Amino acid sequence: MTAIELVQGDITRESVDAIVNAANSSLLGGGGVDGAIHRRGGPAILEDCRRLRAAHLGKGLPTGQAVATTAGDLDARWVVHTVGPVFSTTEDRSGLLASCYRESLRVAGELGARTVAFPAISTGVYGWPMDDGARIAVETVRAADTTVEEVRFVLFDERAYEAFAARLR
Ligand code: ADP
Repeated sequence: MTAIELVQGDITRESVDAIVNAANSSLLGGGGVDGAIHRRGGPAILEDCRRLRAAHLGKGLPTGQAVATTAGDLDARWVVHTVGPVFSTTEDRSGLLASCYRESLRVAGELGARTVAFPAISTGVYGWPMDDGARIAVETVRAADTTVEEVRFVLFDERAYEAFAARLR
């Protein structure tokens, strides 16, 4: 069974095999956790992303999918980029959010990662309510059939940490 750990802090400071990035479909950088990962990880990550766009991801990475690059200067072997759905009040996109966690674990597991750090995907600029985002994250990781041994949710602030802690209790 996969162990689930919670940490409050900056995901770019974590030492794990794979750090998951809440990217946008362009893979060419953005704000929030994406900006932080590219800033601290250095230009090698963006170079890899550009290569992926030039190769098989010409239209970008679809929502709910995941792809790996180098982790550059981060203390990790890979960054796994996934594109969360934008929250909608008129359409249930929770399947896509669950897919982000599942697909990221699949990609990380296939690479041989044993430890994976996740941010709270879609809960920033993409507007997903934190409690529901935490529910989907925890339920999906618990149900995942994966070789990853430890999943670490790295929550940026106390509110996010508490939302995830409540789901784990
Ligand atoms: P999205 O577009 O998927 O909503 P954001 O990066 O805007 O992505 O936000 C996702 C979550 O990541 C938010 O809860 C935000 O507070 C958090 N976050 C932002 N920076 C960091 C960081 N350096 N480490 C961990 N989490 C972060």
